[in-house]
Amino acid sequence: QFTLEELPVLPLAETFALTAAYNADSFPDKVNLGQGVYRDEACRPWVLPSVRAAEEVLHNQNANHEYLPITGDKQFNDKARELMFSPKLAKNPNIRTVQTVAGTGANNLAALFCAHHIKPKNVFISDPTWDNHYLIWKTAGPEITQKLYPYYNASARSFDFDGMIAALEAGEENDVVVLHPCAHNPTGFDPSQEQWKKIAEVIGRKRLFVVFDSAYQGFASGDPDADAWAIRYFYSTFFGALSDSQTNPPTGMLVCQSFSKNFGLYGERIGALHLISPQSVAAEGAYTHLIRLIRAVISCPSLFGARVVNTILSDADLTAQWGEDVKTMALRIQGVRASLRAELEKINIKGDWSHIEQQIGMFSYTGLSKAQVERLKDVHHIYMLGNGRMSLSGLNESNVGYVARAIKDVVD
Ligand code: PMP
Repeated sequence: QFTLEELPVLPLAETFALTAAYNADSFPDKVNLGQGVYRDEACRPWVLPSVRAAEEVLHNQNANHEYLPITGDKQFNDKARELMFSPKLAKNPNIRTVQTVAGTGANNLAALFCAHHIKPKNVFISDPTWDNHYLIWKTAGPEITQKLYPYYNASARSFDFDGMIAALEAGEENDVVVLHPCAHNPTGFDPSQEQWKKIAEVIGRKRLFVVFDSAYQGFASGDPDADAWAIRYFYSTFFGALSDSQTNPPTGMLVCQSFSKNFGLYGERIGALHLISPQSVAAEGAYTHLIRLIRAVISCPSLFGARVVNTILSDADLTAQWGEDVKTMALRIQGVRASLRAELEKINIKGDWSHIEQQIGMFSYTGLSKAQVERLKDVHHIYMLGNGRMSLSGLNESNVGYVARAIKDVVD
């Protein structure tokens, strides 16, 4: 028997709690390096010019507000799939796409689908990872054991390739492995193409089920095709036209796609989930089960974000503008990495800070301890995650010196 009052009070999820604490702080030079959101040079939210232009187009269309199909907006799904897999691969019938409530909704649907229909014994999740992965898999599949695969070598401040491979070697057929295709959150370290090939080989040989979580396509390198490389490699190797010659394909693959960061559509909650089956498998039934789960959770997805993305990706000029927009964001973050490192070295901070520039994507995994992060907040009004993850777009020319001096203060 259960009573309401027995439930303990839980803390708010860390990024949201940090934003609230930052907003409540009246210190004039406070700095927000918590939530993973892009900020412009003035540290303000940035509406992408391509998105503004699409809003204009949509405004003049006077569209209605009817329900979408359960699977979402077909044109949006087609464009999302082309962006993720390339127009050529996206034509293959063994990739089926549904619209989701952003990347979180895609991850949640993927986990629900696995829990209900794949029924793995274990799910392999990277250590560390986006903290919601743990919660999503715990709530969607409480009976699935979470196994953490090593990802980060703290002493070398690098990707722990050997640790990851050794952990995956212990996987059992149909176990799920969750992978970040680019701009790993929070570490900012991605496998090289050679390392991805080895990871794929192990996953295929062990006959695992793959879930890719793509939240930063285009945002990492500035080139959406380059950032999709790992996903396209897995697809072509295991599930593409040649897959019949493959003796060891994974048992299936799901790809979660978020448009929050790369289109700056955070609050619009737009994403997609792609279900990929081996060519030899008739997966129509699996697709209908995915649809049934969507029906239970959201009935059907929402309109606006799908319309914005579809408007951009259906128009050559707007697509070109969007290409410029993602480059703008990626380049600014790369510039911020260089200037933070330069500021730290200028003031002779102890230790090696080259990892800031070696990492890629929205974050720097600084290596600062929980106590140092606490001190940054309490003494210097600088807000970042307790694991030392810093969201770099909160830095600009005017505050990077202040932040560097504060870091030196807590490190020395
Ligand atoms: N996956 C990863 C790895 C992320 O970093 C994020 C955003 N922080 C998401 C998924 C989901 O983002 P959203 O639901 O806002 O699209």
